[in-house]
Amino acid sequence: MVSIDQSRAEVAAWLATHWDPDADLIEWRTLLAKSGWGCPSWPTKWFGRGLPPSHNAAVQAEFERVGAVGMAAGVSMYLVAPTLLTHGSDEVNAKHLLPILTGEHTWCQLFSEPGSGSDLAGLTTRADRDGDEWIVTGQKVWNSGARGADYGILLARTDWDAPKHRGISYFAFPIDQEGVEVRPLHQMNRHASFNEVFMTEARVRHDQMIGAAGDGWRVATTTLAHERSAVGTRRPRFATDGGPLVEAARAESAAYFATYSWYPQRAGRSNLIVPEAQRLNRDSDPLVRQNIAEINSLARIFGWTNQRARDARAAGKEPGPEGSLAKISMSETARACHAAHSEIQGAAAMLTGPDTAAKGMIAEVLVSTPAQSIAGGTDEIQRNILGERVLGLPKEPDDTRSLPYRDVARN
Ligand SMILES: Cc1cc2nc3c(=O)[nH]c(=O)nc-3n(C[C@H](O)[C@H](O)[C@H](O)COP(=O)(O)OP(=O)(O)OC[C@H]3O[C@@H](n4cnc5c(N)ncnc54)[C@H](O)[C@@H]3O)c2cc1C
Repeated sequence: MVSIDQSRAEVAAWLATHWDPDADLIEWRTLLAKSGWGCPSWPTKWFGRGLPPSHNAAVQAEFERVGAVGMAAGVSMYLVAPTLLTHGSDEVNAKHLLPILTGEHTWCQLFSEPGSGSDLAGLTTRADRDGDEWIVTGQKVWNSGARGADYGILLARTDWDAPKHRGISYFAFPIDQEGVEVRPLHQMNRHASFNEVFMTEARVRHDQMIGAAGDGWRVATTTLAHERSAVGTRRPRFATDGGPLVEAARAESAAYFATYSWYPQRAGRSNLIVPEAQRLNRDSDPLVRQNIAEINSLARIFGWTNQRARDARAAGKEPGPEGSLAKISMSETARACHAAHSEIQGAAAMLTGPDTAAKGMIAEVLVSTPAQSIAGGTDEIQRNILGERVLGLPKEPDDTRSLPYRDVARN
């Protein structure tokens, strides 16, 4: 068994020989992927070294020590790659994992539909077999980052005679094709990170199915468990004066994360509360102080809960219902911040523009925090999961679960 110290020494030696700040970004990431040091806990067959997840932090620290760039970040890495590693065929993984790691291909999630968000298994986008291909027709909605994405992880109904959860298949779906139209949706916070995706007789090859036909719901639950526990994409950190390769990675990251520039506001911007209370001389107001104390207490408690979830992941456990707790805790914090900002600013919280409170950020917080308790499954759905899977309460009644889906009444 390799120790963490051995891994640290090995990656340090590898970086000392191979890290070249003047190299091309894609060439560097390809070399890194093939070495296994970019994702050390992935299997050796797929660009990893098969090390326990508990080694990741030590390896990452070596990258930061020398200022070396790691693998691409984003939805592709935190949702798509773990799903492929669990369910993808050799063919699918050989085609997609390397461009995900290098950042050459970006992905989006094509799950929600106008009539199927919480009730995701009620989706009606259809895929019909045509030789080696499937023909896809339907509409998806709220698809973050779909504009500009190369692929989508797509759920479509392939068997209307099977019950609701058993007639769904999961595809690696190419976006850039005739028959696919991506339309941005404008949000009340003036950003446009979501899209509607219309598919009209679009095509996807049969060998791009992930998991078996009709088994897409099981594959989707893997993706959703990772989504809840990661909740949001983590931004990479870069060395301040790292040379051309670091600058190329920084520019790539800035372009990708521009879509998510309002996510800190969505989380509540707790860091603005005390400075704004001080600026407006509200920091001695007992109600304001009480709100601040509540937010700090929540942050501590949720920090411990999240640490427990991170430790479980580092010990190699798959994400479980603790992801629902993490998701709810972020919603609670965002709501408490929303209340505290409103209390401190009063009506001025509604003003936007550069010469208003925190340059308009407070108003942006107020119209962005509702998204926190919707994205990745609403708070109510997370509570249902905790009730059923942790507390062992009876499942929500649904007398249509075993009927052929074509016979189920839909809106
Ligand atoms: C920031 C953000 C990013 C997103 N990104 C993506 C993406 O990239 N890809 C994608 O596919 N989707 C994405 N979504 C969509 C998201 O997954 C859905 O909005 C969410 O699952 C809720 O579905 P819905 O909007 O259809 O609401 P509905 O399902 O219509 O829910 C309406 C209300 O009814 C409640 N409700 C519904 N069913 C139950 C129940 N059984 N028990 C109790 N209460 C219930 C809900 O909690 C909610 O309050 C994103 C959403 C947001 C806000």
